[in-house]
Amino acid sequence: MAEIKKLLIANRGEIALRIHRACHEMGIQTVAVHSTADADAMHVRLADQAICIGPPAAGESYLNIPNIISAAEISGADAVHPGYGFLSENAKFAEIVEAHGLIFVGPKPEHIRTMGDKVEAKRTAGALGLPLVPGSDGAVSDIAEAREIAARIGYPVIIKAASGGGGRGMKVCASEDELETLMQQAGSEAKAAFGDATVYLEKYLGNPRHIEFQVFGDGKGEAIHLGERDCSLQRRHQKVLEEAPSPVLGPEDRARMGGIVAKAMADMGYRGAGTIEFLWEDGEFYFIEMNTRLQVEHPVTEAITGMDLVREQIRIAEGHPLSVRQEELEFRGHAIECRINAEDPRTFAPSPGRVDYFHAPGGMHVRVDSGLYAGYRIPPYYDSMIAKLIVYGRTREGCILRLRRALEEFVIDGVKTTIPLHQALLDDPEFRAGDYTIKWLEDWLARPENQD
Ligand code: ADP
Repeated sequence: MAEIKKLLIANRGEIALRIHRACHEMGIQTVAVHSTADADAMHVRLADQAICIGPPAAGESYLNIPNIISAAEISGADAVHPGYGFLSENAKFAEIVEAHGLIFVGPKPEHIRTMGDKVEAKRTAGALGLPLVPGSDGAVSDIAEAREIAARIGYPVIIKAASGGGGRGMKVCASEDELETLMQQAGSEAKAAFGDATVYLEKYLGNPRHIEFQVFGDGKGEAIHLGERDCSLQRRHQKVLEEAPSPVLGPEDRARMGGIVAKAMADMGYRGAGTIEFLWEDGEFYFIEMNTRLQVEHPVTEAITGMDLVREQIRIAEGHPLSVRQEELEFRGHAIECRINAEDPRTFAPSPGRVDYFHAPGGMHVRVDSGLYAGYRIPPYYDSMIAKLIVYGRTREGCILRLRRALEEFVIDGVKTTIPLHQALLDDPEFRAGDYTIKWLEDWLARPENQD
């Protein structure tokens, strides 16, 4: 058992704050790292120590491994938490952290590597007994082979980059006529974006939901699942609003699928937090990928399980066993998270700048994770998500009513935000009925009444 006394947070924004909070509740000191653009950020102000690691461009700061390691050494940190995004799924970074005698709050580097390569991840998931989307058995480079596979699984097919992520590097192909051109485009785009031209083929599911399971492993063969999150509300493959539990899963489905993923993680010897993402259509699950890190939407799981996921990550990194057994976990009530972005709510054009006034909603079961404050300048260099609003209710309907009330109270002046979009969504009868898939939001946005 290794006790962490000082932890370096290799991230920024709301997630840096989230990690800082868990640390301070556990008596752990924090070290913030930041770019020159983030000198005034809230995570920098609240941390026990702050070290500037470079200029605004993420490549020179939040992705700058030598500077982050130096910051850990200078500050005397004994652990590093990578948050999500940036270096969180970089196996090399995890290895370097460990090679410097620091604790990496995350999975074993080899598991990050395996799951980071989508072809390898699919193969591993299949071997562990997870149901897969029908598709190519690994990478496809030869067009004749691609034709044969596509004909077997049936059009439309989706061409995906093995090293893709963040909803990028995917092309839907409707018929054989387009296949060659799209394969070539996908390959060269993947090479340009991810430095790897490897692509693979999958059946394109017509109208699925995105349902993911939260898992935790102790790295020694024990693992649990914390239920699912429904993240079907997406725009351009990016999640907009998430909820737990999914409106379409019952306790038996949850126990069955949760049992399968927990067993897979136990067999793998997985360590720490992870998310297994599935598409769900007509009652069937299809594995798409595993994220070997904390997710943006983890608070909805915290709301319905009462567990602090960052605390659990840190405890596991210290070598403790899992804090609960599967049979002790109860899923209670309903939680929804709205991702609030500094964007125009119609065009989604980024809207960085000065926040003139900030008032966060409050009251029972309302949580706001955000680094914003009045006078803060949202820098233009990073992700546009500026706040997460997470609301809990005993029922889904109660949760939605509370969420509407909370959004009404939320004031962010000076920049445009997606708050009006969330308000409109919550009033939609189909959303209210839980009747939506991954296609739904884009169709909804295209409706004439949602254009003005
Ligand atoms: P990324 O790593 O870029 O997030 P994923 O494989 O998780 O990529 O896919 C992201 C999103 O793309 C999914 O949530 C879903 O909306 C869509 N998608 C991925 N695979 C398929 C598929 N086979 N059929 C239909 N939609 C898909």
